Amino acid sequence: MNRRDVLKWIAGGSLGVLASGQRVQARPYPLRTIQPKNPWDPARLPAGVRRKVLVVGGGLAGLSAALELAERGYEVVVREADSVLGGKLATRRLQTGAGTFEVEHGLHMWFFNYHVFRDIRRRLGLDRHFRPYASGVHFEFRNYQPEVLQSNPPRYPQNLIGLLERSPNFNLFSGMRQLGMLRAILFYEHSSNVARLDGLSFPEWIQRANLSPAFRDVILMPAAEVTLNDPQRISAAEMAQLMHLCFTSHPRAMQREVTTVDHGTAVIEPWAAHLRQLGVRFDLGRAVSGLRFERGRAVGERGDPTSYDGVVLACAVGGARAILRGSTSSDPASASALAALRARTDRLELAPPYQVLRVWLDRPTRQDRPDILETPEHRPINLMVQFHLLEEESKRWAAASGGSVIELHLYHQSAAEAAERDPHAIWRRVRPTVEELWPELQPANAMGATVGSYEDFTSFAVGQASIRPSATTPAQDGLANLTLAGDWVATDYPSALMERAVATGREAANHLLLADGVRQASLTVTPSRGPGLF
Ligand SMILES: Cc1cc2nc3c(=O)[nH]c(=O)nc-3n(C[C@H](O)[C@H](O)[C@H](O)COP(=O)(O)OP(=O)(O)OC[C@H]3O[C@@H](n4cnc5c(N)ncnc54)[C@H](O)[C@@H]3O)c2cc1C
Repeated sequence: MNRRDVLKWIAGGSLGVLASGQRVQARPYPLRTIQPKNPWDPARLPAGVRRKVLVVGGGLAGLSAALELAERGYEVVVREADSVLGGKLATRRLQTGAGTFEVEHGLHMWFFNYHVFRDIRRRLGLDRHFRPYASGVHFEFRNYQPEVLQSNPPRYPQNLIGLLERSPNFNLFSGMRQLGMLRAILFYEHSSNVARLDGLSFPEWIQRANLSPAFRDVILMPAAEVTLNDPQRISAAEMAQLMHLCFTSHPRAMQREVTTVDHGTAVIEPWAAHLRQLGVRFDLGRAVSGLRFERGRAVGERGDPTSYDGVVLACAVGGARAILRGSTSSDPASASALAALRARTDRLELAPPYQVLRVWLDRPTRQDRPDILETPEHRPINLMVQFHLLEEESKRWAAASGGSVIELHLYHQSAAEAAERDPHAIWRRVRPTVEELWPELQPANAMGATVGSYEDFTSFAVGQASIRPSATTPAQDGLANLTLAGDWVATDYPSALMERAVATGREAANHLLLADGVRQASLTVTPSRGPGLF
């Protein structure tokens, strides 16, 4: 029996024993499309009917809600605290010692299961600035061999077997020891996931499953590291969902795409241009501090007499918390509904601070270095990106200068680390780690550097998933025309990050559309169950 046969036996035989009494099937479930609840209603507002909606937050969630509403004839005002649109997909033109460049919040990757986002890309004609990222996910460790995760062949379950088989870090039978946890992921069940696993941290879950240290360190903990959260506090439920989304829910779940130009040019600007054509008004550079509630409805912004028929809070968890705290209500029913919602959002946390450093170096990297490298054991660096291999502007600069453009992601920072805002000082701090990983950069000089310092990321800590509101929780609490959208909002199907932001944006719009008798938008979503056995 060779190595491949043994792995197939593990996959097919032993898991079968474990699964007794559960569904046994050969293929992942097909994608699910959630159809409008009101297919008989008109596709847009009838002529002469005016509806005005305030969307608070111009990130992906807000832009997604604005798109569905504006295309159906709504007047939409998007209020964004920042001076640019996009939220965590925003791009700014920044001056550095090396020149002036379009600099994003940080590298983003689009996964196969981003079905709502794919629909938006198609509708807005955004695909031309996307390309597959086919070279696999590269990892560098201190205690293990470098690893490359690739979905190859792109067939389930051979892709998972291939992944284990190619790994230099697992011995022949190590797959056997992972069965306890694999079972939970292969039989992922969205409806019970939070109830079952949100009380448990990911490391506790791993410990209970008695996994091999190699599987824990090489496959599982790196996945937790890139969530920007503290891996020690992260909820097992959040990780089970992410692994379902990014590994097992579909044979192509591991496939990713990147943009070939900055996120502003690729996504946000054309999206905003389309919305402007539909009459959407953008109000940038002033934060909403609170809303006014009357008779169970959000009627407008505190301190502004303009009235609205609906409000979408798409301003990330920190913004939503602050706005609800700063809101006023004119009657006891609104006051108690607002208090119920606040009680929920006040318990939602933020992930620790993080920084994204970009440096323009006067030396090239070695040719065989991966475009994107995950470094789970090289704190303070979690991710290194060679932007001169990904995006046009950086490519041009590197070609002209002979240098390289490197982005470093520094997640779950301490307060002291996050307090440093000088990019060159941060570069000096992380440089020894960069040189350890890529020694050819030892003689490099930083010609320019930028840093973004943030504390705005959704917390995936134990217990948070259990208290997340959904898009329609405010209505259930008694605030009929207030909806929530963002990557911190619960969905009753598997979703995360950018895809959750755009999906909940669409759900928020759908809530208002249903109330107005306008046909809702459909949503294609990831199946709620794992693929089962082979
Ligand atoms: C470094 C990094 C890398 C990432 N990589 C990936 C990836 O590879 N794949 C992936 O899917 N996801 C990734 N993400 C996550 C992704 O960026 C987010 O899930 C998504 O962009 C969230 O969109 P959102 O609209 O919910 O929130 P945001 O983008 O945070 O937008 C909220 C907006 O509301 C505004 N706002 C806040 N308060 C107020 C107020 N009071 N008044 C008015 N406006 C307000 C904010 O300024 C912001 O523009 C990454 C995130 C980071 C930080």
